[in-house]
Amino acid sequence: SAIPTIRLNDGNAMPQFGYGVWRVSNEEAAAAVGEAIKAGYRSVDTAAIYGNEEGVGEAIRAASVSRDELFITTKVWNNNHGYDNTLRAFDESLGRLQLDFVDLYLIHWPVAGSDAYRDTWRALIKLKQDGRARSIGVSNFMVEHLRRLIDETGVTPAVNQIELHPRFQQKELRAFHAANGIATESWSPLGQGSLVTDETLAGIGRKYGKTPAQVILRWHLDNGLVVIPKSVTPSRMRENIDVFDFKLDADDMRVIEGLDDKGGRVGPDPAVFG
Ligand code: NAD
Repeated sequence: SAIPTIRLNDGNAMPQFGYGVWRVSNEEAAAAVGEAIKAGYRSVDTAAIYGNEEGVGEAIRAASVSRDELFITTKVWNNNHGYDNTLRAFDESLGRLQLDFVDLYLIHWPVAGSDAYRDTWRALIKLKQDGRARSIGVSNFMVEHLRRLIDETGVTPAVNQIELHPRFQQKELRAFHAANGIATESWSPLGQGSLVTDETLAGIGRKYGKTPAQVILRWHLDNGLVVIPKSVTPSRMRENIDVFDFKLDADDMRVIEGLDDKGGRVGPDPAVFG
């Protein structure tokens, strides 16, 4: 069934469900993204550092759906912060993707110990004004970083893409996003696969004839989050997108809320990473 969209603070629509391609090689990316598009995915999350923008672009050109039906995200890496560097890095990403615009351009990390992300953000504002990035946002930003961008430029990111899954629920940051009109996008939504063997989630799934992965993805959707699971296995790609025919009940939501763990990160901490 059709993938729901959410309305971003700049008026654009973003699919609430997409396909992440971290650790998919450039060689396998064209086939994997092609397979995902066939399975019904319309949004792809890549990044300059993933090294697979060319493969993603190849799949877009080969796809049977038009560019307008796709939502493509990429990100500027940590070594290209600053106004001029970011504009150059963006041109290089578009060149590798062979696109003339992306739907969403993100600052990949704030980079601990540097405040160059503010000039990076000014470059993204310019790219949005020029229409080459339809929407602009950030990734791995903490409240203090978001506050500085908003205070210094008056432009609120449309999206903050952050580590988020049942074992690391980011409630404080989500509350700040909600108060400021920032959409929350969950990376490593399955805890990099570590949550798919969880017995509590399996038990909930049995009620609906769904797998733990499907329960987790439904939990993201029912929380209003944008979610971008990754798999290169076609059967799992199809399993992961098959979550639009059920809804978790209030009890399920409460039980999953109970899995939250302050120490539950699977990825780097933005307070120290960079
Ligand atoms: P994920 O939580 O999506 O888990 C992916 C792994 O889970 C797969 O490699 C596979 O081993 C397993 N898996 C997937 N579907 C399954 C299924 N149905 N059944 C059983 N196992 C399954 O992890 P991820 O790839 O880290 O995150 C998703 C995407 O988020 C990435 O591809 C990337 O696009 C994005 N991301 C962004 C950042 C960032 O800093 N902005 C960091 C990490 C990931």
